[in-house]
Amino acid sequence: MDCIFCKIIDGEVPAVKVLDEELVIAFMDINPSSKGHMLVVPKNHAENIFEIPESDLAATVKAVKRCAKAAKEALNAEGITILQLNGKASDQIVPHLHIHIIPRWKNDGLSMSNWEMKQGDMEKIKNIARKVKEHLS
Ligand SMILES: [Zn+2]
Repeated sequence: MDCIFCKIIDGEVPAVKVLDEELVIAFMDINPSSKGHMLVVPKNHAENIFEIPESDLAATVKAVKRCAKAAKEALNAEGITILQLNGKASDQIVPHLHIHIIPRWKNDGLSMSNWEMKQGDMEKIKNIARKVKEHLS
């Protein structure tokens, strides 16, 4: 399969690994948004949150917590942004699920939550919530 993350998992492509477990690996992002930016990746190929089995997801999220804590302690980070994208519309580039761990510091110049904050229409919000709840299984 022509998947760069599967190649990293198989050892065909080198990566700076920080964690290598049965179901999950974590390695440093080679295009870091901040000091310590790393990716946590399930070893079984799954493109996104819709495809990944819950057992693989649970292992991945547990590894995210460990890596986030380790990064915070090792780098004296003041915050950690955790980011996971699904689909081209969300800016996902590599089609193998991955969770970004991005250490943060006050005034680090990064902004990943700069969407406009303004009061929504409560009737519209309630209608959307109703539609989503109809699809929860
Ligand atoms: Zn893959």
